[in-house]
Amino acid sequence: MDGTTTDEWPPKKKQLTMSQDVQTKLKILADAAKYDASCASSGSKGTRQGSKLGSTEGMGICHSYTPDGRCVSLLKILMTNYCIYDCQYCVNRVSSDTPRARFTTDEIVDLTIQFYQRNYIEGLFLSSGIIQSPDYTMEQMNLVAMTLRTKHRFGGYIHLKSIPGASDDLLADAGRWADRLSVNVELPTAGDLQQLAPEKKEPEITHAMGTIKGRIDEFKTEKKAGFKVPKFAPAGQSTQMIVGATPTPDLEILQTASSLYNNHDLRRVYYSAYSPIPHADARLPGKSPPLVREHRLYQADWLLRFYGFDANELVAEADRNLSLDVDPKLAWALAHREYFPVDVNLAPREELLRIPGIGAKSVARILKIRQHHALQVADLKKLRVAWKRTAHFVVTADHNPGLKKLDDLHLKQQFVQQPRQLTLFDAHASAKSGEV
Ligand code: SF4
Repeated sequence: MDGTTTDEWPPKKKQLTMSQDVQTKLKILADAAKYDASCASSGSKGTRQGSKLGSTEGMGICHSYTPDGRCVSLLKILMTNYCIYDCQYCVNRVSSDTPRARFTTDEIVDLTIQFYQRNYIEGLFLSSGIIQSPDYTMEQMNLVAMTLRTKHRFGGYIHLKSIPGASDDLLADAGRWADRLSVNVELPTAGDLQQLAPEKKEPEITHAMGTIKGRIDEFKTEKKAGFKVPKFAPAGQSTQMIVGATPTPDLEILQTASSLYNNHDLRRVYYSAYSPIPHADARLPGKSPPLVREHRLYQADWLLRFYGFDANELVAEADRNLSLDVDPKLAWALAHREYFPVDVNLAPREELLRIPGIGAKSVARILKIRQHHALQVADLKKLRVAWKRTAHFVVTADHNPGLKKLDDLHLKQQFVQQPRQLTLFDAHASAKSGEV
């Protein structure tokens, strides 16, 4: 016995206590946060027809991945959807007639603690419209994170959206409390920003990213040198780019992503298909780009980061967009048949990584196995490579009948699938396995 007494056993499950006012705000501000794709489960569409239980469209709780690969559930909300800016693609812009709400610091802190104690979430994802000024907004968001960390000793995951234009000191403060920071690049080029979000300046966005990177580097160097330094955004920084709001092609989107990875050490660039908003500016398209475009961008992004591809190599189509029919690695292989066949028993790692259907993990296994024996077709199938794609591009120790089709002009047709609705989960699955 631990000495505690209860009036009844088993105790009734406590209800989440939330005033009507907070519930209304939660509805508005969790819904407004769904446009931010910086979580793995954001934007999933299409709950099954006729279902009574389970929704894939809900907002409020999303999932993200910690640096050690754990999936965490986050309470995803905006501090407020009031905003002094007028970004044309955004439902929260000052000229929008959307219902507005603002949480107080205590309300966000209470919600986070209550959701956490009930095991609904493991952390908080907090974003906000800009109120008064970037500094004031950042200060208020920092206050939430600081209160959680210091007053409540909250050790869970916190992701804070950093506000471009906020002072370096406030960004530094944000990194003290948050696990991850993100500054949204919003649109792929400076020209796009000027056109649709003139108050957002590319130099301010990249300056904020640079400041965060500098602090992260400083933290790592001092830690390496043996100093006991307070953590600074240990899960790094990420960004989000809206795709399809302007005619900017995939090539420029990937070039921007590539430069962000190289210059600011970003952990992730999230691509979010533009979704039409009420009373939108005439310059904006009337419908979203096909979701498969977003999927192809995620695949191409993976190839940039882990497969040694360059943005310029990945886009072969005349209109400077990725092929929607086949994945970008296969599209590259079909356009560069002179590079194939690759001998899986002799080729170096970087050549193996370019074979369609073979992911980075399989490449690591191939390199190990071939130290002991020569790989045959059956060995590759056992490694669960996507053999239908791989078969036409590799030489194995035994006869590979698929190879005879390598120069077939109609080879691409074999891979073109009937169109179907893709979800972000598809993107996530291929991103995890790396088998593109
Ligand atoms: S600053 Fe952010 S919240 Fe405000 S209008 Fe632009 S995108 Fe929307």
